[in-house]
Amino acid sequence: MTSRPQPPPAASLAYAQYSGWACCWCAKSLLNVVGAVSAGRAHGLDGAHVLDNEVYACPACAPEVPQQTGAPARKWCGGSLGGDNETCVTTTRLTGMDAFAVTDSKPEGTGHEPRMTGSGLDTFAVDRARARGLTL
Ligand SMILES: [Zn+2]
Repeated sequence: MTSRPQPPPAASLAYAQYSGWACCWCAKSLLNVVGAVSAGRAHGLDGAHVLDNEVYACPACAPEVPQQTGAPARKWCGGSLGGDNETCVTTTRLTGMDAFAVTDSKPEGTGHEPRMTGSGLDTFAVDRARARGLTL
């Protein structure tokens, strides 16, 4: 079993990192980021004051980023007649959260995996349908 790396000392963190608004490792803002995870507790003392606080890591720095579940990807196909040339968008739920990995079946999509929250995906679908004049 591997142990998780400990977060940096509390006294070395910028306020946003210490407060959980930014990655404790790279300082990237975590606002509107899907997949940020707890990195554990940063420890420190300022005189008699305990500075210990839970801090967070962005998906790139996280030792354990949410992965796709074992559930099959749901395919969203349309526009062609099926077969090997049909292109589809797939959504796969990520473990432990209301969020999805979004992929497509075209060769250009290989290796690209945008991630969206469930509510973000819902908003996209409704706004896209309205913009296209489709009836829900
Ligand atoms: Zn980071």
